[in-house]
Amino acid sequence: MTAFAQKRPRSSARGLRAFVLVVCLAILALEGWRDWHERDHEINRIRAETLNLAKSLTQHAQDTFELADALLVDVVDRVETGGTLPDAIARLDVFLVERVQPLQRIKALTIYGEDGTLLSSSLPGHSGRVNIRGLDLFKHHSTTSSSNWFVGPLIRDPLGGDWVLTLSRRFNKPDGSFGGVVQASVPPRYFGNFFGRFDVGSQGTITLLHQNGTILSRYPYIERAIGTNVLNDPQFRNARGSGNYDYASPIDGLTRIGGYQRNHIFPVGVVAAVGRDEALARWNEEFVFRGTIIGLLILTIGSLGWTLGGTLRRREQAEAELAILATTDGLTGLANRRTFDKQLESEWLRAARQKTPVSLLLIDVDQFKAYNDIYGHQAGDECLRTIAKTIACAARRPGDLVARYGGEELAILLPGADESDAAIIAEDLRAKVEALRVRHDANPPSRILTISIGSATRIPSLDRSRIGPDDLITLADSALYRAKQDGRNRVASAKAA
Ligand code: GH3
Ligand code: MG
Ligand code: MG
Repeated sequence: MTAFAQKRPRSSARGLRAFVLVVCLAILALEGWRDWHERDHEINRIRAETLNLAKSLTQHAQDTFELADALLVDVVDRVETGGTLPDAIARLDVFLVERVQPLQRIKALTIYGEDGTLLSSSLPGHSGRVNIRGLDLFKHHSTTSSSNWFVGPLIRDPLGGDWVLTLSRRFNKPDGSFGGVVQASVPPRYFGNFFGRFDVGSQGTITLLHQNGTILSRYPYIERAIGTNVLNDPQFRNARGSGNYDYASPIDGLTRIGGYQRNHIFPVGVVAAVGRDEALARWNEEFVFRGTIIGLLILTIGSLGWTLGGTLRRREQAEAELAILATTDGLTGLANRRTFDKQLESEWLRAARQKTPVSLLLIDVDQFKAYNDIYGHQAGDECLRTIAKTIACAARRPGDLVARYGGEELAILLPGADESDAAIIAEDLRAKVEALRVRHDANPPSRILTISIGSATRIPSLDRSRIGPDDLITLADSALYRAKQDGRNRVASAKAA
């Protein structure tokens, strides 16, 4: 250990690298937050759009059912006033054809008698051949007295076999008893084709559902999907009125985001949805593009910062080494003469203000010229290093300084130490060097390496005309001279002031 430890300067290089790291992380965090926010925004926009679409298509479904119902009401009125005798039926055959022909959305209007047998239809040629006694719609009307409409929901058309949505009403005989059923068929394909006019992308779907979960129609129209039940889907079960509907399709497995709207008159609703991947494709593309740019930016800033940090660190190291060289003695590692002078000056001033003593020990190796002569200059150097190491422990308090004063003379500055403290420290150092028992044949009588120490202690005054730091050095030097005169390997103290 040396008595002179350099204060390590704060590393700006580390600070710069930390700053660059923080900047990079901040850019990354901000960009990540912005991207996530935008993605959320995009999803909400898509949800709002699909919900609006679901709302207008539900309204369209309602319009279709209302149109069918208006026809049913008209036909019921005619059957109830005209009866079901062959003449009346013949007129009804013509009427039904006339009413249905111009309507794309209505496939057929059919009248069934009280036993479920087909009486009349807009599709001619089925009279008496078809019976719907077994169908729910017939059971419903024949067992309830309500003259209200009934939505089918979805049946295989008794007049062909395709899927049809049915809306029906009962008609009564003149005595008010059950007379039969008037039924309108709406082909699911009609809705499928109509939904196809709206752009929901290649992965989007628009689905018309019955409130019991049955898929009534769908775009794109897939035959096997019609009649499927999605009631087990918890989202469907929990859906109220209208809202968002994100789901993995049981039909094609695609994840979709969308909106649903239930109709408040008829037991149907529409789910309009777009493929999540497709809908977010543009956002994904922009994300990858922005991510690449940000990544490159961060890489550039990071590598620039890192390189700059490295350069700064090397410069700081060089400066620190220079500072050490400028203040340290190369041979012993102790403070050099210049550092000693500066420290003496500042400690002198401090002690003068605080009115505390300053002690100085001047140490000189005994018969060192002869040591060099006998053992060589290099051995002399090694000897000086050993002594420096041995006395370095004297600097224990802040302000203490062990320095190479010049040649083989060393100095120890002890601010705050009084005369007796200084004498004790000096004697301790002398004994320590003696205890090294380094052989020195030309240093009688012990013939081992010894040192002589001159010690001086003064309470400094701010008035330099009375006493200054140079006087302390002179006093210590005189004491050292006395120690040499008195036989070496001893401590001599300057007289108290
Ligand atoms: P004294 O006991 O009276 O001090 O006798 P001395 O021979 O030690 O006399 P002085 O202190 O005048 O001797 C100084 C010698 O120290 C001269 C020189 O050979 C030696 N010396 C000074 N600096 C160095 C150094 O850096 N390395 C070595 N090896 N010797 C040095
Ligand atoms: Mg000397
Ligand atoms: Mg000497």
